[in-house]
Amino acid sequence: MNLVGDMNWLTPQWQRLTAYVQSGRVPQALLLVGREGVGKAQLAEAFSKRLLCREPQEYACGECASCRLFAAKTHPDFLRIEPEEAGKAISVDAVRALKANLALKPQYSGRRVVYISPAHQMNVSSANSLLKTLEEPDEHTTLLLLTDSPELLPVTILSRCQRMNLPIPDRSLAITWLKKQGLAENVEVLLTLSRGAPFKALNLANDGMIEKREEFFNAWLGLTKQDEPATVAEKWSKFACETLVDWMISWAMDLIRLRSAPRNQSIDNLDYIERLLPLAQKLNLKRMFEYLDRLNTGRKLLLGQVNRQLLLEEVLILWLKCQPKVKN
Ligand SMILES: [Zn+2]
Repeated sequence: MNLVGDMNWLTPQWQRLTAYVQSGRVPQALLLVGREGVGKAQLAEAFSKRLLCREPQEYACGECASCRLFAAKTHPDFLRIEPEEAGKAISVDAVRALKANLALKPQYSGRRVVYISPAHQMNVSSANSLLKTLEEPDEHTTLLLLTDSPELLPVTILSRCQRMNLPIPDRSLAITWLKKQGLAENVEVLLTLSRGAPFKALNLANDGMIEKREEFFNAWLGLTKQDEPATVAEKWSKFACETLVDWMISWAMDLIRLRSAPRNQSIDNLDYIERLLPLAQKLNLKRMFEYLDRLNTGRKLLLGQVNRQLLLEEVLILWLKCQPKVKN
């Protein structure tokens, strides 16, 4: 099975990449832009493998010595630059080590690929250091920069990269693809939770996210007393708070939608409609909007340094105040 051949929402992108190779004009630096889970890594890896392959056809042959080294993740001419820890910056040391490597000739394939992901997680010093590399083109080397937030990259870097946008697939296409990957249950919900990005949906399924969501939904729905938000926040703050807040945003939006149109079938959490619907009519709408506002500002705060447990407790208190049973 060829994964990239299967990812047919990226066919135009793959064709463009292949055309670069066939015309002998592979850009020195390519910026692949697309939402998390849309297939950036898969496309970049397939292209790297194709560039390094000794007997390539439309795809890498998969059998030559280069392809075998690539599959074993030991190809000396495929250089991967990532943060040491998820969420942390790409250090300037990593970029410096890369440059030392680039000073040598490619060892194996006569060509070399540098894979930098997520590119926007380079800090100012690492970006500046990389910029010098971009200013001194090297015909043997192709840089692939992957990002879902190009706006966080310095303009100086952006201006030296050829940009390629990766789209979200049509929903029906994504569902067919997910089923083909063996996903049998909750396909629609997983795809909605991942905002249409198929690889993210697969990851969510593997991480037991459906069960976690159900557990948190019950805790959220079950809040009735003033002292409960602190307990729930303490328990859940160890879990990915970004995900919790994203879930609460989508539940709040669905409640607001259902309030004005109870028969609305185009809500995000269709699997929860029976439980959301009775609640939608009882809520204090003004407070719902305040709660939603706070969730949205909280979501932005989570990108920086913030006390996650306190933030969670605060939004849960606001949520409690939307409900009719609680006296304030
Ligand atoms: Zn090969």
